[in-house]
Amino acid sequence: MDKRFVYADNAATTRLLPQVLDKMTPYLTEEYGNPSSLYAFGQKAHEAVQEARLTVAQRLDCRPDEVFFTSGGSEADNWAIRMAAKQQAAKGRKHLISTAFEHHAVLHTLKALEKEGFEVTLLPVHDNGIVRVDELRDALREDTALVTIMFANNEIGTLQPIGELGALCREKGVLFHTDAVQAVGHVPVDFAGMNIDMLSLSAHKFHGPKGVGALLCRKGLRLGSLIEGGAQESGRRAGTENTPGIVGLAAALDIACERMAQTAPRIAAMRDRLIDGLLASSPRCRLNGDREQRLPGNVNISFEGVEGESLLLMLDMHGICASSGSACTSGSLDPSHVLLSIGLIHEVAHGSLRLTLSEDTSDEDVDYLLETVPAVVKYLRDMSPLWERIVGEDALPASQR
Ligand SMILES: *Cc1c(COP(=O)(O)O)cnc(C)c1O
Repeated sequence: MDKRFVYADNAATTRLLPQVLDKMTPYLTEEYGNPSSLYAFGQKAHEAVQEARLTVAQRLDCRPDEVFFTSGGSEADNWAIRMAAKQQAAKGRKHLISTAFEHHAVLHTLKALEKEGFEVTLLPVHDNGIVRVDELRDALREDTALVTIMFANNEIGTLQPIGELGALCREKGVLFHTDAVQAVGHVPVDFAGMNIDMLSLSAHKFHGPKGVGALLCRKGLRLGSLIEGGAQESGRRAGTENTPGIVGLAAALDIACERMAQTAPRIAAMRDRLIDGLLASSPRCRLNGDREQRLPGNVNISFEGVEGESLLLMLDMHGICASSGSACTSGSLDPSHVLLSIGLIHEVAHGSLRLTLSEDTSDEDVDYLLETVPAVVKYLRDMSPLWERIVGEDALPASQR
């Protein structure tokens, strides 16, 4: 098969849709008014922001005044957790509950709060990558300030029982935040119906622009302000609105939700063909994360005896953009905390490959992945002393292993 360019890293970021860019362009060019200005020229920008707020509210089932635009998912996570913690601490509640496999925007915020005197409980996510509702019930305490559990995991794609977790927190009177950055635009998300108090989302994960997201915050929660200054975002996050970004976020969300019923099954079918094909193609590999409760586009497979970084570099030479199971980007070779949280040992976690598909992915792309990935895995294993040892161990009788 001829070499192709296959972008299979849609959990990292997605392509901006041309239709979304078209909606943004006027606000990057001629409609440059400040939404806070009183004259009609500024009011046009203001109306565009308000219309975007309404779109988000309609698509995610919340009120427009529950939408606060941010610079992205990380900011929304930091804001939600810090503000809830501060507000609850004033009532003597200093216990936070989360999971071991959250995004670093959540985990590092919790770490910082721990240093400030909060106590953090991280729930296990088990070998299928899913939190158990009963374990949250057992972990809740009188002094629990906040529960923050992600909607869908960014590495292994597993979907959490958000509706049940939300209902439990509401029943117990505990604030519930979810990082829904990987879920919004990909699976149905219902802010009110799922009893969510706070929700983070980010436009560039659903074919919108980078650097813009939102925090949804239930009315009456008195979310503390993040940035002091002007009266933007109800006075909670000062700074002139990112009008083109906000318009782009809403346009991308509109399209993603409109098309979801068609695109999600098509993407899931490609995902399943890829999973089945890869698992059948190589010995000693495993799928990470629950097979059913997972994002339509997520494939995460560990190949024993392979080094993730080498795999990525080789795939890059074949035109494939993918991601691995170690945090090599941060300069460390530590295996991913997500893969360790579902019980993988370091060696196996290191040989992990994440391929994330989107509506741009074609059947020919999947064919190419199914041809290239197993060949690269075999090539790397053939020169790996680690693989030789793994296979050698198998050759020994069980009593001598
Ligand atoms: C990408 C991502 C974030 C961060 O979003 P940014 O907009 O890039 O800051 C947070 N949480 C999850 C689960 C993500 O996948």
